[in-house]
Amino acid sequence: MRNQPEYNILLVEDDANHVALINRVFKDESHCHLMVTETLEQAKYLIGLSRPDLIIADVKLSDGQGVELLNSGSGPPTIVMADDSDESVAARAIKSGAAEFIVKSRETMASLPRMVSRVMREWHLAIEQKLAHERQQRLTAILEATPDLICIANLDGFVTYINHAGRNLLGIGKNENINRVRLADFHSVADGQKILSEGIPCAIHEGTWTEEITFVSLNGEKILTSLVLISHRNIHGETEFFSTIARDIRHLRAAEERVEYLAYYDTLTGLPNRNELTKRLEMEVARVKRTRLFGALLFIDLDNFKNINDSLGHPAGDLVLQEMAQRLQTHLRVDDTVARLGGDEFIVILSGLSLDGREATSLARDIANKIRSAISMECSIRDTELYVTASIGIAMISQDHVSGQDLQRYADTAMYQAKREGRNRVEFFSESMGCDVTRQLELENQLHRALKEDQFRLYYQPQVNAEMEVIGAEALIRWEHPELGIVPPAEFLDVLESSGQIVAVGNWVIETALKQMMQWIDNGLVHKDFMICINISPRQFRDPQFTQNIESLLGRINVPSENIIMEITEHNIIHNINHAILRMEELIGRGISFSLDDFGTGYSSLTHLKSLPVDNIKIDRSFVEDICTNSGDQAVVASILTLSRHLDLDVVAEGIENLEQFHFLRKYGCNIYQGYYFSKPLSPENMSVYMDAKKPAGDIPLLN
Ligand code: C2E
Ligand code: MG
Ligand code: MG
Repeated sequence: MRNQPEYNILLVEDDANHVALINRVFKDESHCHLMVTETLEQAKYLIGLSRPDLIIADVKLSDGQGVELLNSGSGPPTIVMADDSDESVAARAIKSGAAEFIVKSRETMASLPRMVSRVMREWHLAIEQKLAHERQQRLTAILEATPDLICIANLDGFVTYINHAGRNLLGIGKNENINRVRLADFHSVADGQKILSEGIPCAIHEGTWTEEITFVSLNGEKILTSLVLISHRNIHGETEFFSTIARDIRHLRAAEERVEYLAYYDTLTGLPNRNELTKRLEMEVARVKRTRLFGALLFIDLDNFKNINDSLGHPAGDLVLQEMAQRLQTHLRVDDTVARLGGDEFIVILSGLSLDGREATSLARDIANKIRSAISMECSIRDTELYVTASIGIAMISQDHVSGQDLQRYADTAMYQAKREGRNRVEFFSESMGCDVTRQLELENQLHRALKEDQFRLYYQPQVNAEMEVIGAEALIRWEHPELGIVPPAEFLDVLESSGQIVAVGNWVIETALKQMMQWIDNGLVHKDFMICINISPRQFRDPQFTQNIESLLGRINVPSENIIMEITEHNIIHNINHAILRMEELIGRGISFSLDDFGTGYSSLTHLKSLPVDNIKIDRSFVEDICTNSGDQAVVASILTLSRHLDLDVVAEGIENLEQFHFLRKYGCNIYQGYYFSKPLSPENMSVYMDAKKPAGDIPLLN
């Protein structure tokens, strides 16, 4: 006999005859175990206790109606029995969830075992269906919630299911019918073709096919996806339908492109970076060999960019770099490359200049000069006018077997030469430059040692008034070189400045001058209005620690700050006048005054003068030199003196070498004088002697 499932059946019946009959009917059904109870109440108790698989209940019981056990269908299946064929009872029973209803008779009761088997079969089926339905609902919920497009299509390509993400991606409305939709309609012709000729055969053959495919949504958006096409077979191995899973990889691709971009481009300026430059330079070297057309490599370095960063902060520095990158780009042809090496260094590759070396060189020079002027055009960053200049070194790219790396080195060397020659200029690389750079490095080392080994000296040049009384002195640095003797500042100041060593050396100068002044005061050699003038270099002036250093020196050395003049030139302020003024005002607040040195040599002196908090200007020696003979110089000096009177400024004339010059300037109303005529710069000892022996007022030689 077939293995039958076992059932526990609860029979609820108060008619003993019927119970006996039903018991008999089930006697041979060993898989059915009957439990019998007479009352509704007991039945309820037993249901809770033994959880029968099926209930057979009489409608009419002593304590109620069997229908009450039906419990709205959530309990086990129930067969309801009634004594007569009351239709309303039957209807009520079925409506309340009875699995079957019989009118009690010998026959119907005899058929109960068969009925039980059928009811149980149907019951199990219904439960299975319910579970399957629930399972499907869960799976659908998952499909609907996944962010990837998931789509099922029949063999003709028509969509039978598409999830929420898929509808979203393709722009298909939530309630739109998908019966006539084919996924193929959402691909470009090329991608559609690819799926047909490659994708479907491969999926049929291998089960899946994976490719990057672009969808075009209903609103025209192109969506790059990573797509998997899967073929599904029936039990006979025949393909029955396809499913597609597609993931939007636009963000991924954008991120990959960004990573790629970052590897080869500078984020700040968007220009190619060092990596990309190296690649392009090698290409250019190869091209020159092939085409014989000369090219050029320009090494561009902004002058004093560090000062902009130091004084205005890095965000402003970044803006300057972006602005300069922009200017470089607009001045080049599409074939040329402009790259940023880092910091304030840019490289330009000029391509295909000329077959003729001379012409190529001249073109490169013209372009470099154009770039130089573009850079030095006014630049306004956050309401501050900046004057940026650039030094440019050029190495020509010829057919010689020179590597890109060497070319960069050459152009770099030439750029350094441009800096040494005074910045804001263009220099071509020449073989001899290599030696110059080495010499510069050597000098830097020697200067480093000079400070450490105390080889610097401070000399003092007296300043006198119209009565030729000594009223002050300018401190001037000298280098007492162990072999070369006294070296003048012109030979080493630039190197100190460009290497940054000027900050330390400048501090030494200030400290030494103040100590010297203190000594003179202590020795009674100077009167209370004596001014000590100290030159401050641009880099030193912009050093973030500058004010702090001065304050700490003033704390240590007791010289009254009212006796100190700081000499600055236009170079100190040109990069950022507002910052310079702020810095000056800080120090003026401490009692120090300022003098504008080398006045007349800069290009916008008179404009700056009005806004600068200086007490004093020093007319440059070049105007004094020919003052007696050159009417142009006379005119300049006269107007400087008039302007100064208006602005209530003292004027110092520098470089007075003879009596004529002195008389001439005195006549024009100059009030302070300095020059070899009175004295050359003197060692501290000689200066002390000089002041000690100073002439009394009024002792001015007369002109013959
Ligand atoms: P400066 O500040 O304009 O100084 C005046 C220069 O003219 C000094 O040259 C001085 O010796 C020279 N001089 C003065 N009177 C005459 C004259 O009658 N005839 C001629 N031919 N020259 C005269 P020096 O000492 O060689 O200094 C050159 C420049 O170096 C200075 O020009 C100044 O800009 C700079 N310098 C000197 N000492 C220092 C220093 O301690 N720190 C800084 N940052 N710069 C300094
Ligand atoms: Mg000076
Ligand atoms: Mg001067």
